[in-house]
Amino acid sequence: MRYCRLQTKHGPQYAEVVDRGGRLWIERLIPPFEEGPASDFVDSAIDAFDPLPLDDAQMLAPVAPSKIVCVGRNYGEHAAELGNEVPAEPLLFLKPPSAILSPGEAIRIPALSKRVDFEGEIAVVIGTRCSQIGPDEDPTWYIRGYTLANDVTARDLQKKDGQWSRAKGFDTFCPVGPLVTDEVDPATGLGITTHLNGELRQDGNTRDLIFPIDHLLRYITAAMTLFPGDLILTGTPAGVAPMQPGDRVEITVYGIGTLMNPVL
Ligand code: ZN
Repeated sequence: MRYCRLQTKHGPQYAEVVDRGGRLWIERLIPPFEEGPASDFVDSAIDAFDPLPLDDAQMLAPVAPSKIVCVGRNYGEHAAELGNEVPAEPLLFLKPPSAILSPGEAIRIPALSKRVDFEGEIAVVIGTRCSQIGPDEDPTWYIRGYTLANDVTARDLQKKDGQWSRAKGFDTFCPVGPLVTDEVDPATGLGITTHLNGELRQDGNTRDLIFPIDHLLRYITAAMTLFPGDLILTGTPAGVAPMQPGDRVEITVYGIGTLMNPVL
């Protein structure tokens, strides 16, 4: 299934996305995925909803994670371009959920940084709570689907601080979307591109992940429990570069779509 989250007259809602003769449509609203009582879902909204083309919808980030777990240097050519060794084990860091940004909304360059880079990445959306995934278990069972993310990074502050929380954690530094889908499979090789102002800057494939997604899920859950909606950013291919106010960044994976954000 493919789904998105959009703004409706009943507030933010999740909705199923279908292909109607080559054009994507938002077909029907679906209940929220988050655990717990907090839910803005309105039952009556289901009947009242009129299908509309995806292009006409006000899209929202399709996840509300308790945490965003990221993997650094998971493509060899990207590690090399920043002068780093390929790590012997996955290199994990966290981004705060407050950094999440909807498709189409503006990434804001903070005054504190002189170099803010894009990092186009494929992101895993967790579907089922998991911890300590064993060697005999299939980690992909816990995955709801895949989406796109931009791991926006204040490169100068990343170097200056020594650890990455501030450099990766500014508000608007985690654009996510537009869709979540379980109809693609990174294990078979998914191409991912990033365009800056229409110019191709990153052209990677998940075949080149140093640590594939099943390995990452075992490694992460050996340390922390993952909850439905949690996001795992799987790392960026080579070609990261700075963004300037007025720029436009587009990250594309066939079957997931294009995550576009302007830069302010
Ligand atoms: Zn990254």
